[in-house]
Amino acid sequence: MTGADVVIVGGGLAGLEVARHLTGRRVRVVEAGPDAGPVHVNAAGGPVSPLQTWLEPGLDPYFWRPWQTARPPHYAGVAGLRRRLGGRSLYWQGVTLPIESWALGDWPQEIVRDLTGSFRGGPSLYDRVLADLDSWRGGYTPAGPKKITIGGYEFCRTPRAIRPAGVGWEAYSALNAGFRPDASLGSAVEQVLTSGGRAVGVRLAGGDRISCDTVVLAAGTVENARLAAGLSVPASPYPIVDKITQGFTVAVPPSAPLPPGGAYVWRGNASLRTNVLLNVDAGPAAVVINVGAMGEQLVDPAGVVRPPVVHPALGPDDVSLVAQQRSLLREIWCDLAGLLALEPVDLTFPDFATAERTLEMVLPDMHGPVPPRTPVTWSRAIGTEYHEAGTLAFGHLLGNGHDLQGVRGVHVAGPAAFPRSGAANPSLTTLALARRLAAVLTD
Ligand SMILES: Cc1cc2nc3c(=O)[nH]c(=O)nc-3n(C[C@H](O)[C@H](O)[C@H](O)COP(=O)(O)OP(=O)(O)OC[C@H]3O[C@@H](n4cnc5c(N)ncnc54)[C@H](O)[C@@H]3O)c2cc1C
Repeated sequence: MTGADVVIVGGGLAGLEVARHLTGRRVRVVEAGPDAGPVHVNAAGGPVSPLQTWLEPGLDPYFWRPWQTARPPHYAGVAGLRRRLGGRSLYWQGVTLPIESWALGDWPQEIVRDLTGSFRGGPSLYDRVLADLDSWRGGYTPAGPKKITIGGYEFCRTPRAIRPAGVGWEAYSALNAGFRPDASLGSAVEQVLTSGGRAVGVRLAGGDRISCDTVVLAAGTVENARLAAGLSVPASPYPIVDKITQGFTVAVPPSAPLPPGGAYVWRGNASLRTNVLLNVDAGPAAVVINVGAMGEQLVDPAGVVRPPVVHPALGPDDVSLVAQQRSLLREIWCDLAGLLALEPVDLTFPDFATAERTLEMVLPDMHGPVPPRTPVTWSRAIGTEYHEAGTLAFGHLLGNGHDLQGVRGVHVAGPAAFPRSGAANPSLTTLALARRLAAVLTD
């Protein structure tokens, strides 16, 4: 049995960030996948395009779907982990929005203060991460104006941790920032080992063991729940949420009176727990405008993980959010159609519960040689937004030291720790909390 002080289970976005900021202790990252280099999929050239890597995961050698779902198409299809050092930090789009104050209201106040007010007498964790991402970007700013207005809606440029790289661009990863962890690769952690109510190590698939006094679960929201269930404390099931996402896409000729190319966001509020992301991209035959409403899924007693099976559920709050989002999207479409001088045809949405027509089905046609000339609506199955969160949350199963209740020496990193997700994408908060956990463990 080899040893370390701290074993981090999972070398993805969260795990690497904890390792990068943890000082003064012997840290070992245990990653189920191989080290396939630090190149982000949007920077890599090659026969498989980034869109295919995302939409046809069978073409991605690192796609590994651990999720067994009780209700496909939710948590099925494109949903799943990418097993390689770096995890999904080498796939994400770099959108860095903070969780909204209306959602943070349900988080422990001490953690909200550290995220948004001041951390240990200095700048807040959000400000520290954003400053470091700015310096990682090296002055790069995406093209396009800071704001655009469509009818009654003012969209701001979407904040993104991206910079030009390779054949395209890359989003931030600890790997492309130059960090190299001490790592055991290619073997999944099967079990956290305990003795006398505290962590003493981990057992890998194949039987090897690594001894340690601290284990950080950073294996993704679903897998973290499976590892916690192996400890029997706290007991399963674990709540799980993703996002409520739907929208419409329209392809228009480049000669149309277009909004400027780029990525923009309109931010909702406590009663309409939704952000609207608007992307204007040049395709081979047309300019593709994609408008997606991305909203907060609320915890519902029926939406749980009973490891290893995910039981997704649309609660009553989710159903009413689906309807609210549709009204909002119709209004935005009317304004956009006016701007583009298009017929404001009525938008008819697919059945959300069965994910009848998903973005994955719609996008390839839009980027194909003969895109449709009318708007096409879509929704996303729950779990396919990759924002799965909440299984081992602060205030429920996790103490303010990121410590799993009922067993000493086990901590949690990543969106699994979120009590509420808000409408924002999770990764800015994941990076901020990873620093907080690193500081707790350094102490
Ligand atoms: C295409 C795409 C676009 C996205 N865009 C955005 C965005 O713009 N903004 C945003 O905020 N978020 C975005 N996300 C979501 C974001 O990437 C995830 O929320 C984030 O990566 C989660 O971090 P994590 O560390 O929990 O999981 P991961 O990054 O998936 O890392 C988990 C790691 O654990 C490893 N692992 C799993 N089980 C074990 C085990 N038993 N033993 C050892 N290792 C294990 C996995 O192999 C993996 O490397 C996007 C995701 C995708 C796929």
